[in-house]
Amino acid sequence: MDFIDHIKDINWSDIADKIYSKNSSDVERALAADRPSVDDFMALISPAASGYVERMAVMSNRLTQKRFGKTVQLYVPLYLSNYCENQCVYCGFNSGLKIPRKVLTIEEVKEEAIAISKMGFKHILLVTGESSKKADVDYLEEVFKTIKPYFSLISIEVQPLSQNDYERLLKVGLHTVYIYQETYNSNTYSNYHLKGKKSSYSGRLDTYEKLGRAGVYKMGLGILAGLEDWRVDTLFTALHLRYLQKRYWRTKYSISFPRLRPNAGGYEPSFVMTDKDLAQLIFAYRIFDNDVELALSTREDRLFRDNMINLGVTSMSAGSKTNPGGYAQDNDDLEQFSVNDDRTPVEVAEAIKDHGYEPVWKDWDSSLQ
Ligand code: SF4
Repeated sequence: MDFIDHIKDINWSDIADKIYSKNSSDVERALAADRPSVDDFMALISPAASGYVERMAVMSNRLTQKRFGKTVQLYVPLYLSNYCENQCVYCGFNSGLKIPRKVLTIEEVKEEAIAISKMGFKHILLVTGESSKKADVDYLEEVFKTIKPYFSLISIEVQPLSQNDYERLLKVGLHTVYIYQETYNSNTYSNYHLKGKKSSYSGRLDTYEKLGRAGVYKMGLGILAGLEDWRVDTLFTALHLRYLQKRYWRTKYSISFPRLRPNAGGYEPSFVMTDKDLAQLIFAYRIFDNDVELALSTREDRLFRDNMINLGVTSMSAGSKTNPGGYAQDNDDLEQFSVNDDRTPVEVAEAIKDHGYEPVWKDWDSSLQ
């Protein structure tokens, strides 16, 4: 039974009612649990837990250090293309927007790879808009072969591919695939995703099954905070995580926490997630799952990111450019969104060291591949 069948009888508003009816006894029980259940997680993300955030931070710090040591993995995104066939109302790459478009040539990819590797990174995340016409699997395979000499770990955040295509990229060094459902609210999903393949809620969800069957090493999940009530959306993400862990148990998992940022589309969030909410969520995830990677991007500002270094986050991007060709050249009018932490990788690494943590440029997981 796929995840879509698994959640077909789970009602969005019933989940909301359950979350908002949690009280301090439920939170205390969740904090005392050896292995917190999804119901405990519900208590930890509820408004009732907002008075427990400091206690949750202490637990999150202890559990993260126990499992990951005092380390933070660093990675950098390389935007290959801003062509997209979808129309997501919240995104600057939306195909309905008249913006300059570009797909990097293989020669340009090599220039970017050299510029990035000189910064010290060994983990790179390849990002594209979702266009199989402009950046198909043949192109991606060529990119992998070109940049392989410069990086020990290559991840992607591109359009959903077929199981065969994922298997093909695994053969040339694919490690992690990040793909975001954006919202699990099937009733409103189409309000945000107007056209293109991404407008299919079930098609999007099915991608995770393809990744699991292909045997990808790590899968990254997440919602876009700002579209729907983050508490309810996060609960569905936790259900998805547990389902995937059980069914595709060889795969590792990562959770990201993107919040809406200013973009060329000018879309404003309908549901605000404050810094305190996001901190509560990060701590809740760590208490719920001691092993999952928790990733924080440069969408967040330096103060918030620095505060999270020793409180649960295990992976951070740094020095990010969100436009194709942003490292070797510079062309800001091609960017997907504006970043909130524009420090150089060295500055981010120094901040990590200042917290008594070690910045890790190479993910040693890759040596197990
Ligand atoms: S969010 Fe992704 S799929 Fe949607 S418009 Fe932007 S690049 Fe395209």
